[in-house]
Amino acid sequence: MITQTTEQATASENTRRAIPAGTPCFYCHQRLQGTVVMWWGEGADLYLHPECTVELSIRLLRDVHEIERENQTNITGGPSSLLNPR
Ligand SMILES: [Zn+2]
Repeated sequence: MITQTTEQATASENTRRAIPAGTPCFYCHQRLQGTVVMWWGEGADLYLHPECTVELSIRLLRDVHEIERENQTNITGGPSSLLNPR
């Protein structure tokens, strides 16, 4: 889901849980302002810059691929999951 920091949000967007400007990004810890990616989880909410969302996603997927290679499993189902084991 995307949202805005409160200074950028319109009244209708405030119903989408706009967050205070200055809230730190989960990934880079820099202050958020403007359009923000958000996810609500069990016990933690994540707020990220859109570009940091890409960076984090790449690293999360790399970690999943590492699990596949280390455990010889095929989590993603892709053809390269089990290629080139260490
Ligand atoms: Zn960030």
